Amino acid sequence: MQTQFGTRFLPRLCSLALAAFLFCAASPAVFAAEADNTHALHSGPSDLSVVTAKLSDGDTVRILEHTSTDWTRIALEDGTTGYCDSALLSIRGEEDSGDGASDVGETLRPVSILSAPDAEAPAVGKLAANVYITLLSAPEDDAYTEVTVNSQTTGYIDSEAVRPVRTITAVVAPRPTLSEEGAKTEAEARETLASLAVYFEDGCYWNTAGVPADAQDAFSITDTPCDHSMDGYVFCNTYSGITETCFPEYGSGSTQCLGYASLLSDLVFGTEAPIRVHYDFDRLRVGDHIRLRSWEHSMVVTEIGTEADGSRYIQVTEVNEDYETCRISWGRTITEDELYGLGDTVQILTRYAED
Ligand SMILES: [Zn+2]
Repeated sequence: MQTQFGTRFLPRLCSLALAAFLFCAASPAVFAAEADNTHALHSGPSDLSVVTAKLSDGDTVRILEHTSTDWTRIALEDGTTGYCDSALLSIRGEEDSGDGASDVGETLRPVSILSAPDAEAPAVGKLAANVYITLLSAPEDDAYTEVTVNSQTTGYIDSEAVRPVRTITAVVAPRPTLSEEGAKTEAEARETLASLAVYFEDGCYWNTAGVPADAQDAFSITDTPCDHSMDGYVFCNTYSGITETCFPEYGSGSTQCLGYASLLSDLVFGTEAPIRVHYDFDRLRVGDHIRLRSWEHSMVVTEIGTEADGSRYIQVTEVNEDYETCRISWGRTITEDELYGLGDTVQILTRYAED
């Protein structure tokens, strides 16, 4: 059933339309207002500690220590380390170079950087203890390890003074917050969805694979697909929102497409917005949740349009279109005929006040 759904259902959005959508997505910025104040790398886990660098949305960083729910110690791509607000980070999972080796190390004690792998070689620098450095060779292979510090100084250090560390990659992307109140109009819903498209990045996975236990929540996004056939649903995110009241058959904590649609609906319209169910495509609006009851698939409408010949279509964001990986996708186009050609019950869950 599920494979059949995937193959016969609905063409992909043309790339032109996708580009247009992403262009829209980049401009309105619900979260950007605070960016200047919050995008700081601090010397310590406190707002009062010195700001040593600025972070930009989209930067890839490495998490060295997830020290608390509020602060995370990170390394920037140039090797600079410091602390940032944990809410700035979208964790993407454990760094994996492919051979299982780590290319990041931490110094265990103060150590000299030598110009050659030889105790008699001149020193070109010195490192303090607990400094994170890039490893160019594996410490277990030789008495000296080749390292780079801050993408500048390269040399050799005593292999007994360094330990490889596994790190977690993250992307700087301020996480959206749930509020009791949200969009009232279609224009507001469209603007919020555009911002959410930046955080819930197309092609990433809505799951917790590789995310530290204390950082796992409904906002976890990774680069690692679920494998539902092999692993079941152990890495799937869960979310409980008001939408859950419409699906008592699944119990509490929805996963996959339903959990994602429930979360986005609450992010757009607010957790307190009541929910109504209807079946009238003429009343469909941007932000509505479409539920295919028999297929057990959920999608959130991001656009509604009409072709030159009068035929209507929608564009959607969804998770787990393939039923297997919890992949996030934006911009799939579905015509009205395709939607109703499925022979499924097309249920529309709306958060707009009575129209
Ligand atoms: Zn999953």
